[in-house]
Amino acid sequence: MKALVFHGPGKRSWEDVPDPVVQDSTDAVIKVDAVTICGTDLHILKGDVPAVKPGRILGHEAVGTVQSVGDSVTNVAPGDRVLISCITSCARCRFCRESRYSLCTGGGSWILGHLIDGVQAEYVRVPFADTSTYKLPDSVSDEDALLLADILPTSYEIGVLNGRVSPGDVVVVVGAGPVGLAAMTTAKLFGPRQVIAVDPAAQRREAALRHGADVALSPDEDVKAKVLELTDGLGADVTIEAVGIPATFEQCADLVRPGGHIANAGVHGAPVTLHLETLWIKGITITTGLVDTSTTPTLLTMVGSGGLDVGGFITHRFGLQEMDEAYDVFGRADETGALKVALSAG
Ligand SMILES: [Zn+2]
Ligand SMILES: [Zn+2]
Repeated sequence: MKALVFHGPGKRSWEDVPDPVVQDSTDAVIKVDAVTICGTDLHILKGDVPAVKPGRILGHEAVGTVQSVGDSVTNVAPGDRVLISCITSCARCRFCRESRYSLCTGGGSWILGHLIDGVQAEYVRVPFADTSTYKLPDSVSDEDALLLADILPTSYEIGVLNGRVSPGDVVVVVGAGPVGLAAMTTAKLFGPRQVIAVDPAAQRREAALRHGADVALSPDEDVKAKVLELTDGLGADVTIEAVGIPATFEQCADLVRPGGHIANAGVHGAPVTLHLETLWIKGITITTGLVDTSTTPTLLTMVGSGGLDVGGFITHRFGLQEMDEAYDVFGRADETGALKVALSAG
């Protein structure tokens, strides 16, 4: 089969590799019907994720059809159309029993396209298939399902739920990439008073206004003055960091009100200054984490019933064999305006 193989920093190729097979009784081998590329894949290609070794097939967000299953798999069967979650769950360890699948110590968490071969391929082996895949109803398209593999649960759990977004809140989302935009969309489920997006790119600010933001500001504007004006001088109830650089985290800390929440969703590669000299007295809650995907069933139901509109996230479409071109377009998002790309196996 063909797969997108990482060959060390800056090197990738769409090439022939052996077909995956069932190795453990809990495995499924799944034919990939649609797959997307994540910002995290670009980090891997830059060499920012040293746990990913050369030779690894990348990708952790896909939809597929089950081909074969191990002896102990009972939830899914050959022919089932399933969502392959970015997080794998052993379902048995202490953390999985608390629905904290991202902390799985039994061989799960983020493993696809990281510690084992991923989904940017014609076929993929998915361990713990019973508890790491979700059968898809006909009402959910492949493209919408792709968003459920990572960006929707990530933005909802790590941004909106960790940030305790509540009715009437003023919510600032710093960063209008796919996760930031999805945080704006899912924050709306809680009836906030205002959702304010902050992003330097005009194209992304326009996207923010389409995906739930009431106001979209450039960091060059006086963001703090606008937030204070909207909040009687207090600051935002919740700030969500969806970039992953020191300046944006510090901005979130600067904009939050006393007693408010800072929810970090960005993937950071450098130390950030935490201004405890001003925060120590303010009663701020700061949360971090990798998505658990414990809300995937809820989000799947909402997307399927039309209660959560996720149209417009997929901006570019390709055939699976056009993986190189898709990486190129996604990697130059500043020029191409790509949010999420979808590759379909025709
Ligand atoms: Zn991802
Ligand atoms: Zn586990």
